[in-house]
Amino acid sequence: MSDQVTKERVLEMLQKVKGPDQDDDIVSLDLVSPIVINKGKVYFAISVEPGRAKELEPMREAAEEIVGRIDGVKSVAVTLTADRESGEASDQPPAGGPGAPGSGGTGGQIPMPNIGSIIAVASGKGGVGKSTTAINIALAFQANGLKTGILDADIYGPSIPRLVGLQGQNPEAAEDDKIKPMKAFGMEVMSIGFLVDEEAPMIWRGPMVMSALTQMLQFVTWGELDVLVVDMPPGTGDAQLTMSQAVPLAGAIIVSTPQDLALIDARKGLNMFKQVKVPVLGIVENMSYFQCPSCGERSDIFGHGGAKREAEKIGAPFLGEIPLHMDIREKSDAGQPVVVSAPDGPHAEIYRHIATEAWKNAEAYKAKRAGKKTKITME
Ligand code: ADP
Repeated sequence: MSDQVTKERVLEMLQKVKGPDQDDDIVSLDLVSPIVINKGKVYFAISVEPGRAKELEPMREAAEEIVGRIDGVKSVAVTLTADRESGEASDQPPAGGPGAPGSGGTGGQIPMPNIGSIIAVASGKGGVGKSTTAINIALAFQANGLKTGILDADIYGPSIPRLVGLQGQNPEAAEDDKIKPMKAFGMEVMSIGFLVDEEAPMIWRGPMVMSALTQMLQFVTWGELDVLVVDMPPGTGDAQLTMSQAVPLAGAIIVSTPQDLALIDARKGLNMFKQVKVPVLGIVENMSYFQCPSCGERSDIFGHGGAKREAEKIGAPFLGEIPLHMDIREKSDAGQPVVVSAPDGPHAEIYRHIATEAWKNAEAYKAKRAGKKTKITME
């Protein structure tokens, strides 16, 4: 029989967690923020002195673990805030800051109560087909039975509205100054492209990037989703690092073309995710080989296979190869990605296979993380 999860029950359990100096418990020390419970998912923050967040990560994990033991709790997200007043500002960079990669944990991340897993699709550089791959993988997750959304975080060149045929449309307002996500092919979609003039050149500086992303996550009324695919901005600079730290990512998929140069860039992408402790779910080789649209003959014009070899070398999973094919370009660019417009075709099958493999890896990492947490010994 499962208990109803209550704030009282959560606080009762948290009384077993010792505070930063091992003297009293975190509830008696008044370090616990108001507790939010939403359909079995529990969120709260523990306030700590600035500068001690890293050292106190075991305390955060212990709190998360012990609340996770309560019957009926589906997930727990605990953040460490340096100071309660300033910690509440939504456009603050994450605790530890984007300039402090590797700070680990979920400190300062934006909690996403409705979303099971957030998966980033990234590339080391632009033009490798990252957005085309992201939208088709998202639709493939959906075809595989997962409730899916896509967030276009490529604020420098938002292309998701075009790829799903919603260009020039605007989202509706929801209550509390929030906005509703758009819908395409049954999937929830959000992009900065819906909110700003597509023709206006966008110049973003660090804090603006963070605040744009924050708004698209927090002020959008996302429904209950199994997975939210995030189409990341290309490259591996500060903006990408900031984004990787701002949300609790379940993992990242890296898109690369077979050319060596792109692989060097893909390696940078891998290292970036390593730095911020986000698991790489795998590498996808896009434009892997040329498939003649009339005769179907295959030519390895870019010397295909580089991404697979590279993945093996660095120990990252290889998720699959997508050919360079007119259908993929034409259908995506016309707002009808192949996974939905030609679901029985060979390309849709490739994307569904990639989505299956990526999901398997994401679930395996989740299980591994959960296993680690239960090992933390309590007082
Ligand atoms: P990125 O997001 O990396 O900048 P896009 O997804 O916008 O790249 O793709 C760039 C161009 O390449 C688009 O016109 C897209 O239709 C095309 N493209 C991407 N992948 C393929 C593919 N596998 N076959 C054919 N064209 C592709």
